[in-house]
Amino acid sequence: MAETTDQRQAVALDFLGDLKRTHDCGALRSSDAGNRALVMGWVHRRRDLGGVIFIHLRDREGVTQVVFHEDVGPQVHARAEMLRSEYVVAIEGTVEKRSPETINPNISTGEVEIVAEKVWILNESRVPPFPMDEFAEIAEDVRLKYRYVDLRRPQMQKNIILRSKVSFAVREFLYSQGFLEIETPFMTKSTPEGARDFLVPSRLSPGSFYALPQSPQIFKQLLMVSGYEKYFQIVRCFRDEDLRADRQPEFTQIDLEMSFPQKDTIFDVVEGMVKRVFEVAGFQVEGAVPRMTYGQAMRSYGIDKPDMRIPPFHCVEDLFEGQGLATEGLPLVAIHIPNTGAPTRRERDEIKAFGQERGLRVFDDAKRLERDFPAQMEKVRERCGAGENDLLIVAGWAGEKKGQRPEETVLLACGQLRLYCAQKYADKHKLLDPKVFKLLWVDNFPMFEWDEEEGRWMAAHHPFTSVLDEDLDKLTEDPARCRAKSYDIVLNGVELGSGSIRIHRRDVQAKVFSSLGLSDEEARMKFGFLLDALEYGAPPHGGIALGLDRLVMILAGEKSIRDVIPFPKTARGTDLMCEAPSTVPDRALRDLGIRLR
Ligand code: ASP
Repeated sequence: MAETTDQRQAVALDFLGDLKRTHDCGALRSSDAGNRALVMGWVHRRRDLGGVIFIHLRDREGVTQVVFHEDVGPQVHARAEMLRSEYVVAIEGTVEKRSPETINPNISTGEVEIVAEKVWILNESRVPPFPMDEFAEIAEDVRLKYRYVDLRRPQMQKNIILRSKVSFAVREFLYSQGFLEIETPFMTKSTPEGARDFLVPSRLSPGSFYALPQSPQIFKQLLMVSGYEKYFQIVRCFRDEDLRADRQPEFTQIDLEMSFPQKDTIFDVVEGMVKRVFEVAGFQVEGAVPRMTYGQAMRSYGIDKPDMRIPPFHCVEDLFEGQGLATEGLPLVAIHIPNTGAPTRRERDEIKAFGQERGLRVFDDAKRLERDFPAQMEKVRERCGAGENDLLIVAGWAGEKKGQRPEETVLLACGQLRLYCAQKYADKHKLLDPKVFKLLWVDNFPMFEWDEEEGRWMAAHHPFTSVLDEDLDKLTEDPARCRAKSYDIVLNGVELGSGSIRIHRRDVQAKVFSSLGLSDEEARMKFGFLLDALEYGAPPHGGIALGLDRLVMILAGEKSIRDVIPFPKTARGTDLMCEAPSTVPDRALRDLGIRLR
């Protein structure tokens, strides 16, 4: 029975002395029967049946059952009686086969047990704040406060070990492709990835600050200018954002850059790497990864990171021209989810309300549409491949054109409605099976996004991204339609990574800065060193960065990146264990020349 209060008696501890492990706790098999073993680890579970005491001893590699029989002698037996959860012990004994009815098929060592002869108590433990049992539901703030105990739980160990294996596979693969692992500084100058920088005050230059890098973007480009040709780094990045649910202020990217690449060259490297990583996690991804442009993704999925486990929608405005179904000149979309059966009245109302809230006019009653527009609806069904038993919803824009790219505004709303419909039936039809992995490349994103607040164009990726050759003159004339040589790799509706072919010419870079409203002076002040470097023989180059945390989360089947990061922060950016951020003594501030307001 678990103790609720800490009523330990002081236990005299043993020294490790010259004891050496002979096996880890996952190693012993029936072929070891008769051999001696000395194991060390934590007391996972303890059952005291009076005369006989069973211990499940746990280390990183697994669990081994140890049995203390009465005839082991009163001294050893008395020590065994003192053992409690999470005590650290060394045990020596003889490996024996278990009788058939006591074999435990759930653990790798389940055919044997160690019959103990000696025990050393190396350390005691307070009653753990929560049980080590992998199925126990524990409040996350308690887990984060006692992270060192939480990380000892088998589930967490599995995740962290997987993370390590993924990093190793990435390194091994990239080294095999001729990449060099090169470090870039953490104390640097602002890099524009669109978020706020974390700042570090400089003591030696009072009033000046370093910025922690949001990414190694500029440095990796400079490494290409310096002729290193293939760079990678598994690197920590820092972004001071208002934290949304599953973001971390510091996170890890697999960052890479190549000189003289075609887009395909980068895609091939990343596909090879991702497939290798999936293999390591025990999954197989077969075939070439499909590709589509941003424009296609929007017109078929209404989102820039389509979840390919759900069928696309279809634009059908051409079939209903002049019928007044929705705002003319904008897309009309047919959403189709297979095998849902006829939707109930309630389901239809919910779907309609969801769409209306996003500005759509929703035709939720396919039967009625079919009565009013039989010829058109036949074509709609044909286009979608929709059968009688499927959900079919038509939706268009209800009001005035909105935004700099009004068509996109409609498609985005329809994309949300498509996901909403899919989610409604997901469980029933296994639409979103987490064990099915669908990768996808999306490329040619818009170069700019309109920032409502600032009333100006911003770089959609970052300002070092190349423009499509044929869109170069749109840079100033028609920024809304200007497309970039940028790409994302998407997995099951999640953006795994983003990258681009970069600008390697100074004149083009200067033009892009000016389209972004940066004066020559500002550009010089922020990125003068990059502009200079582009004048010293910068080769064509490009790259990508993939989020390691998210990748491992998906592979581990976890719902939060915090479960695959050893020491994460809360959604409010705090570390509950070491209580960071924290105040500092006045003296430290004075040294930095800082006074708090
Ligand atoms: N630096 C970019 C990012 O962090 C990735 C890239 O363009 O390679 O999103």
